[in-house]
Amino acid sequence: MAKKEAVVANVLKVMKDLKKVRNIAIIAHVDHGKTTTADSLLASSGLISEELAGDQKALDSDEIEQMRSMTIKASNVSLFHNHNGDYHVINLIDTPGHVDFGGHVTKAMRAVDGVILVVDAAEGVMPQTETVLRQALKEKAKPIVFINKIDRLINELKLTPEGMQKQLTKVIIQINKLIQSYGAPEFKEDWKVNVESGKIAFGSAYYKWGMNINIMKKTGLSFKDIYDVCEKGTHKEFSKKVPLADCLLGMCIDYLPNPLVAQPYRIPKLWKGDMESPIGKNMATANPNGPVCMVVTGITVDPHAGEVATGRIYSGTIKKGVELHISSLLKSEKVQQVNIYMGPERFMVDEIPAGNIGAIVGIRNLFIGETLSSEPIEPFEKIKHYSEPVITKSIEAKNPRDLVTLMEVLQRMSKEDPTLKVEINQETGEHLISGMGELHLEIVEYKVWKDHNIEIVTSPPIVVYRETIKDVSPTMEGKSPNKHNKFKVIVEPMEQSVLKFLNEDGLPDGKPKGKEAIEKLIAAGLPRDEAKNVKDIYENNLLLDMTRGVQFMNELMELITKGFRSAMDNGPMAKEKVTGVKVKIVDGLIHEDPVHRGPAQILPAIRRPIYGAMLSAGISMLEPKVKLLVQAPQEFMSGVIQGLQTRRGQVNEIEQEEAAFSLTALVPVADMFGYSNEIRGATEGRAMWYTEYAGFEPMQKDLQLKIVKQIRDRKGEPEEIPQPADFIG
Ligand code: GDP
Repeated sequence: MAKKEAVVANVLKVMKDLKKVRNIAIIAHVDHGKTTTADSLLASSGLISEELAGDQKALDSDEIEQMRSMTIKASNVSLFHNHNGDYHVINLIDTPGHVDFGGHVTKAMRAVDGVILVVDAAEGVMPQTETVLRQALKEKAKPIVFINKIDRLINELKLTPEGMQKQLTKVIIQINKLIQSYGAPEFKEDWKVNVESGKIAFGSAYYKWGMNINIMKKTGLSFKDIYDVCEKGTHKEFSKKVPLADCLLGMCIDYLPNPLVAQPYRIPKLWKGDMESPIGKNMATANPNGPVCMVVTGITVDPHAGEVATGRIYSGTIKKGVELHISSLLKSEKVQQVNIYMGPERFMVDEIPAGNIGAIVGIRNLFIGETLSSEPIEPFEKIKHYSEPVITKSIEAKNPRDLVTLMEVLQRMSKEDPTLKVEINQETGEHLISGMGELHLEIVEYKVWKDHNIEIVTSPPIVVYRETIKDVSPTMEGKSPNKHNKFKVIVEPMEQSVLKFLNEDGLPDGKPKGKEAIEKLIAAGLPRDEAKNVKDIYENNLLLDMTRGVQFMNELMELITKGFRSAMDNGPMAKEKVTGVKVKIVDGLIHEDPVHRGPAQILPAIRRPIYGAMLSAGISMLEPKVKLLVQAPQEFMSGVIQGLQTRRGQVNEIEQEEAAFSLTALVPVADMFGYSNEIRGATEGRAMWYTEYAGFEPMQKDLQLKIVKQIRDRKGEPEEIPQPADFIG
């Protein structure tokens, strides 16, 4: 057998024996050492593919190159570890370092059966430790613990051996309290950790050594040796005696459940389908011969392969060429390539069996959380509509030579992160990036610079607003410039229930397709006679043709729709987008000769009465808000609340736990600028916070006037807001 086939065959053999598979994530409070720990695990598995070649000699680099698929950023790392003479595979999914996008952490947690909780020995349990551990426990992912940075206790805090023991005991008690509070009733006793259980490692990720009780017993080393090593600085020798990776990977194998053990209790937790159905049973047993079910946990874009979807296979075996049903798109597509990870790199294989994490290439437009299956099944989670971007920056390459690459990179990033939008401003030709907040765009810029080496210049961030109306307008008539065409228009605020439906479940933009779509609008609260006449849905606005017997209406509908859309893209008050408006065309007069009813005539004849009507109907501005979640130690509570008051924040809920509090508040995006520095200062860096999109809300009148002026000024519009009369006649 050729060498490379031998490697793959051996790896697959391990993956098929599910007792030897673990799916895990590393979780920690920021700065406690998650990245350093992951790196030291990864470093230890560098030569593994050679060892796995068995009797065959190691691969040469050409052969490795042949098997390798380029990877820019792995969404999974598979580590191979020889434990007690047997190879095991440990699939390690990355949980994002930034908690701004809180949802992603949860999703990563769903794909794993266990977690390594890393805690800084000196700092102990911090608010974010609690958040991430609570999420893991909620999803029934079992924890083991790595108490990191032991060196700090001795070298920085200068603790005595007794002091060190006291501190470690305190940390362990804190962790068990959380397991007691948040663990599932049937597991919490079993999942508690203590030194004797072997489920706690003590060590240093930075210096790459670590021990649990089992290793201490085996090697005869003890806390006294740790103390000496730190005092003398002999870390290097120590890391050879007790490498951290051996310790942690061994603990994963000894104490974290394999998929055969975990899937029976985790599937009912993650999936709302019928556990007694054939697919339910196949998933509970991780049956490699059952129908396929895979849940996507990460998307990356590879310059050669295109979109790569990484995910956990709960049932069946994914093979190259099979068709899989995509739950959110309601259609099937063919898998062109099947990949497994060795370390952070993807390698092409023929199949991946249930219970493992692998990647597929060839199916496009997937989202994180998507369910792929042989046949349509109840999806793992409904894919919600992504929130709308609320701030925008223009972005350009410092060096014009980088422009094309910059655009490619941004397009790719917006695929991987659906909350990032990339557009070109049609009027100025500028490239615009829009996202969920200041920090979000900062991360994007940092990645462009760091990962792709492109120097960029960006404008200060601008908040995105929306224009809407409060009342029904009078009928407004608009004429085409040649006066041969006339339309009468009324605008009305959309029913709240219809708006909610469009926002949350939604119908695709365009003319509603078929009876079913119309019935959905009626069910959401749109009157039947209106629903039947919807000609266009566009960004939460509706165009209704309520005319009767007007000649040529149908022929002109495409142009009328264009006029409607252009009005919705640039509202009359500040040229911001319009939302929540029903535009009714109630009458019209159209010239019989097509020469007199081209775009130059019809577009203004539609747009102008819409503007006039909106300005008469109590037009107002909406501003984007975020839901802010802050967790911090008690002593900082009043400081945090005061800070929010100066930012027009509306505190909704405060929960006090023993040493920490958590609060949620609604804050305008415009007032969130610089919050990250402020809260760091106000809490000595000990707060954990993140934001979620909370939709657009009305603004105060006085503020609205000021903002509208600013926007008009920025856009080079005259200072005064136009009057309805400006658009009539
Ligand atoms: P993350 O934010 O949880 O991913 O944390 P990092 O892995 O980036 O580590 C945060 C900081 O702690 C870095 O400066 C590391 O070098 C440092 N660090 C990590 N492990 C240790 C350790 O064992 N001892 C000490 N003294 N510092 C460490």
